[in-house]
Amino acid sequence: MSGQPRNGLNSLFSGPGGVISCPEFANARETGRMLKLKDPSLLKTSNYINGEWLPGGAGVVDVSNPANGEIVASIANGNAADAERAVEAAAEAFRSWSRMPAKQRAVLLRNWFNLLMANADDLGAIMTAEQGKPLFESVGEVAYGASFIEYYAEESKRAVGATIPTVANDRRLQTYKQPVGVVGCITPWNFPNAMIARKAGPALGAGCTIVIKPATETPLSALSMCELADRAGIPKGVINVVVGADSSGIGQVLTQHPKIGKFTFTGSTRVGKILMQQCAEGVKKISLELGGNAPFIVFDDADIDAAVSDCMATKFRNCGQTCVCTNRIFVQSGVADEFTSKLQAAIEALNVGDGFDDAVTTGPLVSETAVGEMVDFMADAESKGAKVETGGGKHALGNCFFEPTLVTNVSQDMRIATEEIFGPIAAVQTFDTEDEAIERANDTEYGLAAYYATRDVGRVMRVAERLEYGIVCSNSGVFSTEVAPFGGWKQSGIGSEGGSEGMAEFYETKFHSMGGIES
Ligand code: ADP
Repeated sequence: MSGQPRNGLNSLFSGPGGVISCPEFANARETGRMLKLKDPSLLKTSNYINGEWLPGGAGVVDVSNPANGEIVASIANGNAADAERAVEAAAEAFRSWSRMPAKQRAVLLRNWFNLLMANADDLGAIMTAEQGKPLFESVGEVAYGASFIEYYAEESKRAVGATIPTVANDRRLQTYKQPVGVVGCITPWNFPNAMIARKAGPALGAGCTIVIKPATETPLSALSMCELADRAGIPKGVINVVVGADSSGIGQVLTQHPKIGKFTFTGSTRVGKILMQQCAEGVKKISLELGGNAPFIVFDDADIDAAVSDCMATKFRNCGQTCVCTNRIFVQSGVADEFTSKLQAAIEALNVGDGFDDAVTTGPLVSETAVGEMVDFMADAESKGAKVETGGGKHALGNCFFEPTLVTNVSQDMRIATEEIFGPIAAVQTFDTEDEAIERANDTEYGLAAYYATRDVGRVMRVAERLEYGIVCSNSGVFSTEVAPFGGWKQSGIGSEGGSEGMAEFYETKFHSMGGIES
């Protein structure tokens, strides 16, 4: 998503003073700014259950813009009863959706893709208002998310089973791929659109129906996607979204309801473990995309300028708030000074501010709590001898902003050397040999993404083979695509999203042994 051209879409968001233009929703209320959409009816504030927009069982809850603290909308505060209603609706819809010819499902998903792309500007503006990321990143994420709907519309036609050579003349052996059932889904705030699209695309393509609980901080993107699914002709009950603050209550329903066939989650390893335990009770199928601790290794034969640019792309995208963001930078001693000084210059060129400002490259963090985490990381690192090369503290722009930071002299006893930072702190360590770099990169309970820069083709291969990660990325800071599997090893998760692997997560395999057949 980084690298998408900026596109001047900040004109969608007017200056101070005004009201969200959303007349059909009494919940939407005055804010300090006006979110001007080409199509205001995309801003939804209610639960979407069985094709209807319904209030939440627990009243309303506010969604605020992290860039300025202003309320973007008051939305339905859904609860466990709403989630149960949604699961029942999804179970009912599964009866017909799972039997609909795949070619027909594919047409509806393709319609949805077309509408997501046609409304990318509005969806991007809604995302920036609730999440804070620069508008060019938001619009890029919408296109990235939509690519999964397009891909799985196509894949849905390829649920091909097998005919197995028989073991007896009177028998025939076949396998079928069939949808796993109703899918429960919980997604995070850092990619409010794409984390849903990566799950809903293959789930619906496979013939499953879905109940989604988006992050409390970013429900509006999810709801706008539902509005477009509705317009695309996707039948009622096939997609359901329950929004609100009671993550735990809603989560229990989505992991434990008897009519849930599969649970899929993106979020922290801590919460993933809780949800995995909840799924154990009913032996639900699960996919988990959890935390990361990505190394970025710069070998002394690397193209240093390219390595700096790749490192910036992976470290500072979404203000450092992705599970595949570079977390630990390892630089071979011989090029450490050159790499670090160039990285510092690149960091100092970042432009921090409101994501609706066209010139901004780096938005706010999601919350004041997240800024507090950065402050704590820095206090710990500095007390143990880290050197702050640039940044290092809260940003003057406001409570949710933190300065893009470069830290050197990082040692293993510091929290930034072992924990997932999830913010704009680049922490540089040095190493001497290839073996040492690989060992230190692998020395973590996480295993999602790893990056390295080298011009030696033998090293490209050796390092790829030895890194214990689900995704290895050589000489690039960007890898995400709908056509390839994205998934973590170790405590970074279970299963994959993207590619044919992503579709397989939503199928059961059935073996049919046919007897009584004369040969
Ligand atoms: P992040 O660090 O990205 O916020 P979390 O794991 O805290 O990651 O949250 C990811 C998603 O999980 C969010 O939608 C959040 O509301 C939800 N969540 C958090 N705690 C629970 C829980 N106990 N049960 C169910 N969902 C939860």
